[in-house]
Amino acid sequence: MKAIVVEEIGSFSITEMDIPVPGEAEVLIRVSVTGLCRTDLKIIRAGHRDLVLPRVPGEEVVGVITRTGPAVKRFEVGQRVYVYPGTSCGSCQQCGSGAENLCEGMKIMGFHRDGGFAEYVLAPEASVIPVPENVTDEEAVFSEPLSCCLNALELAGLSPGERIGIWGAGPAGTLLSRASAGLGAIPYSMEPDERRRALIRGFASPPVKGFDVVVVAVGSADAYREALGHLRPRGRVVIFSGLPRAAAELPVDFNRLHYYEQTLVGAYGCSFRHGGQALQMLSEGSIAVRDMISHRMSLWELGKALCLVEERAGMKILLYP
Ligand SMILES: [Zn+2]
Repeated sequence: MKAIVVEEIGSFSITEMDIPVPGEAEVLIRVSVTGLCRTDLKIIRAGHRDLVLPRVPGEEVVGVITRTGPAVKRFEVGQRVYVYPGTSCGSCQQCGSGAENLCEGMKIMGFHRDGGFAEYVLAPEASVIPVPENVTDEEAVFSEPLSCCLNALELAGLSPGERIGIWGAGPAGTLLSRASAGLGAIPYSMEPDERRRALIRGFASPPVKGFDVVVVAVGSADAYREALGHLRPRGRVVIFSGLPRAAAELPVDFNRLHYYEQTLVGAYGCSFRHGGQALQMLSEGSIAVRDMISHRMSLWELGKALCLVEERAGMKILLYP
C-alpha cells in the first residue's frame, strides 16, 4: 500500500509499504477519507510533544473494515467505522475518572502508532465506533475535531442559554461555535477574517455584559488577553489552543479571578465517549458540517494541502487516498 511517512521533522515521503496485519484484538481499515488539521502541519514541520518517528501521520479517519483479528467480537468485514485516535491503559487514575485522553500510557494514532495518511490503517477494536447509516463518510470524519470541542465545552461546564465567546473561526473555532449552539448555548465568534466569519452563523461582537465562557481557538497570546477581558463573574476561560513555547507564559490578574470567582480551564484532545457523542449529534442533525469542507484533494497532494493550511486559505480540507 501507499502511505505518507515522516522520517524526520520537516519533511515527508510517499512510501510503498506492506498492508499491516491485524493483531488479536485489532481491525484493518481501508481508509475512505481522512481530515487534515493544523496539528498535522505542526507535527510534520515542527514536531510535537507526543510524536514518535518514523510515523504515518493522520488522526482523523473514517473507513471500512477489511480484516479482523481472531479475538475481535463486535465488528465484521464491510462495516463503516470512525476511529477514536487514542488507546488508553484503562487502569490509571485518569482512565478511571473518564479522562482517558490524559492516560499515563496514552498512545495516539498518527503520533505513537501509524495513522490514516495511508491506504490502510490498523486500530484496536476498543477504539472503533460504527458510523450511523445516515451520516456520510465526509461528515463522520469531523467526529475527531468535534470530539475535542465537546471535551472542551464539557470541561467548561457550558449550560444551555449561556453566552460563549469563541476567539478564532477556523475549522476548530467554527466547530466550537456550532457545537455550542447544538448544546443550547449562544455562541459569539471573534474573527478578523471576513471569509471565515461568513460561516459561523452567529454573533460577531462581544455582548456588553461579557461571556459566561470564552474559548480561545487560535494560538495567539493577544487573543487570550482579549478574551479574559470579556469574562463575566463566575466565567470560565478555556485554554483550547496551545501557544508557541516562547509566548506560553502570560501575566494573569489573580485578584480578578479571586474577586469574580473566575476559572481557568485547560482542554486537550478528547475521550472515547466524545466520539460517540459527536456521531450522535451528526446523526440527529444538531450540528451541520458539510458546508465547512473547502477542499477535497488526493492524499498524495499532501504538500499542496499543507500549504493551504499554513496560509489559512481554506476551511476543512479532506484527503482521499
Ligand atoms: Zn490510563
